[in-house]
Amino acid sequence: MNYKLVALIAVAIAFLFDTYMEWLKMKSAGREIPDNVKDIYDEESYRKWLAYYREKMKVSFIRHIVMYLVTFVIIGLDVYANIIKQLSLTGDYLAAIGVLVADMLISLLYSVPCEYADSMVVEQKYGFNRMTKKTFFTDQIKDVIIGLALTCGICCLFILIHHALGVWLLPVFTGVMLLLVLLLVFLSPAIGKIHNKFEPLPEGELRERLTRLLSENGCTVKAINVMDGSKRSSKANAYFSGFGRSKTIVLYDTLLEQMSDDEIVAVFAHEMGHNKHKDTLKMYGMNILNIVVYVLLAWALVSMPEIYRDFGFDGVNYGFAFFLLSAVCLSLLSPLLGLFSSAFSRRFEYAADRFAAENGYGEALASALKVLSKNSFSCLTPHPLLVALTSSHPTVSQRIAALEKESSAL
Ligand SMILES: [Zn+2]
Repeated sequence: MNYKLVALIAVAIAFLFDTYMEWLKMKSAGREIPDNVKDIYDEESYRKWLAYYREKMKVSFIRHIVMYLVTFVIIGLDVYANIIKQLSLTGDYLAAIGVLVADMLISLLYSVPCEYADSMVVEQKYGFNRMTKKTFFTDQIKDVIIGLALTCGICCLFILIHHALGVWLLPVFTGVMLLLVLLLVFLSPAIGKIHNKFEPLPEGELRERLTRLLSENGCTVKAINVMDGSKRSSKANAYFSGFGRSKTIVLYDTLLEQMSDDEIVAVFAHEMGHNKHKDTLKMYGMNILNIVVYVLLAWALVSMPEIYRDFGFDGVNYGFAFFLLSAVCLSLLSPLLGLFSSAFSRRFEYAADRFAAENGYGEALASALKVLSKNSFSCLTPHPLLVALTSSHPTVSQRIAALEKESSAL
């Protein structure tokens, strides 16, 4: 079997599927706006939104095309095997790190310009961007360092365990990865500090209302913090971070600027719903399935040394196995895995909305969702297939309809 040909065909299929997704994104603009969200944009802001959305889609489409072109060239011309040979990188560890670093640097060549165009040009033009060039590039550098440390660290650990334990790699490495993901969730409040500053929400009526809502529902959190989201964007958000005792609630400063107290408490109640329903834990459970699939595939890839000759290597290259895993296997598999996780996630969103409604914030949440959509220039009419296949949240219109139904039933 010619593995290179198989890989190229697999990438071609993933490309066709992704192109279809991009096309659906473009088709989402200009669809008829449902009645219950017609008041979000007036005529002028709708026209502005349409122009904004089309520019964002253009950047996204260019990125998509360049990414696949680069992948085809890397696979077709044995780029990584040639780099390893040119640099005379020998030994499993060095050769793997060589491929991973090369892959990261090559992807930066298109991802940084595209992200720059998206945030610093399009978002800037429509008044959403608050990042200075310095913040943008500092973020990129931090992300590269963290990304390289993580991927190289994980790959080296994989090699170490594979050398030492052979097929026992499967349970052991899966266990290690699960612990790592758990650790990352646990440390997420601390990790957040790499990019942002957090201050406790000041004493006052709002804080009292939020604390009361927490205690009425038997929730305890370590802190209610305000994050300087305005440093990067005028778009607003709120989320729960961490596990167990390290759990904190984070409100963007932009959320506090743009919403009334009622709306903020409603958004907070929605987040509390996620907490109450243990959604982070459930998502973690779903990640276990993903991790098991990833480890099985990685093991299968390093167990077939004959594959690598077709890509110009002399034998197994663990870094290239990781590349094949992400660029070939996962690009085919992730739409499938995403289908399930996004369907679950949308159910969690409805349940969290219901929780807010049951606490008397249905109407305020509907109004908050409108403010969020308006201020972040959301697409009100994503194509239904796009929502079904990829979206972690139902559309604003669907959420408001469910909230209205909920409120009338109460
Ligand atoms: Zn949510």
